[in-house]
Amino acid sequence: MFDLIIIGAGPGGYEAAFEAARLGLRTALVEKGDLGGTCLNRGCIPTKTLIHSAEVYEEIRDAGRFGIVTGTPSMDMKAVQAHRKSTVDTLQKGIAARLKAAKVAVSSGKGTIVDAEKKLVRVTGNMGDGAGTAGDDAEAAGNNAGTVGDSADMPGTVLLEAPDILLATGSVPAIPPIPGSDLPGVMTSDEFLFYDGEPLKSLLIIGGGVIGVEFAGIWQAFGTKVTILEALPSLIANMDRELGQSLKLSLQKKGVAVHTGAKVSALTQAEEGICCTFEEKDGERHCTAQAVLIATGRRPYTEGLFAEDCTPGMERGRVLVDEHYETSIPGIYAIGDVNGQFLLAHAATAQGLRAVRHIAGLPDDPKPDWIPSCIYTSPEIASVGLTAAEAKEKGIAAKSHKILSSANGKSVLTLQERGFIKVVYEEQTHRILGAQLFCARATDMVSEFAAAIREEQTMEEMAAVVRPHPSFCEMITEAARVSPPGTLSR
Ligand code: FAD
Ligand code: AMP
Repeated sequence: MFDLIIIGAGPGGYEAAFEAARLGLRTALVEKGDLGGTCLNRGCIPTKTLIHSAEVYEEIRDAGRFGIVTGTPSMDMKAVQAHRKSTVDTLQKGIAARLKAAKVAVSSGKGTIVDAEKKLVRVTGNMGDGAGTAGDDAEAAGNNAGTVGDSADMPGTVLLEAPDILLATGSVPAIPPIPGSDLPGVMTSDEFLFYDGEPLKSLLIIGGGVIGVEFAGIWQAFGTKVTILEALPSLIANMDRELGQSLKLSLQKKGVAVHTGAKVSALTQAEEGICCTFEEKDGERHCTAQAVLIATGRRPYTEGLFAEDCTPGMERGRVLVDEHYETSIPGIYAIGDVNGQFLLAHAATAQGLRAVRHIAGLPDDPKPDWIPSCIYTSPEIASVGLTAAEAKEKGIAAKSHKILSSANGKSVLTLQERGFIKVVYEEQTHRILGAQLFCARATDMVSEFAAAIREEQTMEEMAAVVRPHPSFCEMITEAARVSPPGTLSR
């Protein structure tokens, strides 16, 4: 008997397990694939290793700008993948060791809730089905999570019992019904991340959301002719409009062909590669590329998770939860991608910690979580809190203050592309409501804004912090400076 069973060992599940163990709960963690989930094996970490390789490649290629004479660099995709793999292995070993030290009982296999009232979970050992996780890293097949014993009624399974269950089963790529999407050479990120062949001559990316534009940045840097087709009128459409516009211009300047308002209708095999048919304002068009990446979003993953009569309330595939992340079945919680709220690793972790604290009977943190959204393009993009448009929709009288990176010493000396920081604040009180960043180190600097919003700081309080010179962070001071010097209003 455990106090808590967690299903899924991604950043939602394994961080929740650490927290539960820290709070003294006897915790079981069930994982059917590899520890670390999408984030470590097929998401955040592998993409960022490729992005780092792309950045180093560009630095070397363009080193002449800083007075360094080098030869022409070339890409070795096998070595790039070896770096990706050793990074993932190192981090995975770290998670396994920490789970062991925390005495979390890790069960390897697929978890199914077989009795929602008694909170019974059947764990079926890995028998190679890999259902739903096309990307379960084939080379790492098997797992490092522990073993499954036999239960009396069903050999190869074990039954776990606890008063509470936390679902953290994540998401998988959503593939729209485009004819030809099963052709060889058409991939989702689950497969494309592991590509170790010769650098591609051309790549077509369907979907200009976060995943699509990050891959566009990587492959454009590697020297591939990249085309993005996005159905909506702008890239990264769920973020501030100016971020999408700036990103489009920046990608175009680097040679990426960006078609917005372009809906893909079919993929066919052609002699020179895969031919994509898409509809644009002016009619049907075609584009051919050596490979196609489908990056049209992700869907919550619950396949095989609920036995009959054990399914909580769901809406369009996502598990519905209340403010404590509890589902419609008391004692069953759902955090991270499976509840469809954010699809971000740090959001999954934050939700897991809140749910575990609730399960442990601790009081809730009264302050809401402010979840930063980051895109690791060049320049980086980050956003937290409200945009000016969102503040207006909510009826808040707000203003925004935008500064350009072109006056920032560190940005100029490192020859960064021109970027900006925009801060949204309440007109009357100067309380900070949100920030949008398009500049070097945006994904680090956004944390300062997240902290300021959480602490309900004013622009003046944020500007009063002394930041080092020269640094990218000086832009934060500049962006927050809207009042005369010496003012510190509350
Ligand atoms: P997951 O990480 O998906 O983990 C769920 C786990 O549950 C999996 O290991 C799965 O095998 C297991 N599981 C599922 N069903 C069962 C079952 N029945 N029994 C046992 N185990 C089960 N987010 C960011 O914040 N920053 C980024 O830079 C970023 N980059 C990304 C890049 C890509 C290419 C992708 C695809 C995603 C990226 N994300 C990023 C999103 C991030 O990976 C997810 O939001 C995050 O992994 C969600 O965490 P989770 O714990 O909810 O689920
Ligand atoms: P995200 O949800 O951030 O991962 O982004 C996925 C993107 O793919 C969204 O911006 C969608 O508009 C886009 N998309 C979905 N289906 C298609 C399609 N058939 N053609 C082009 N873009 C698409």
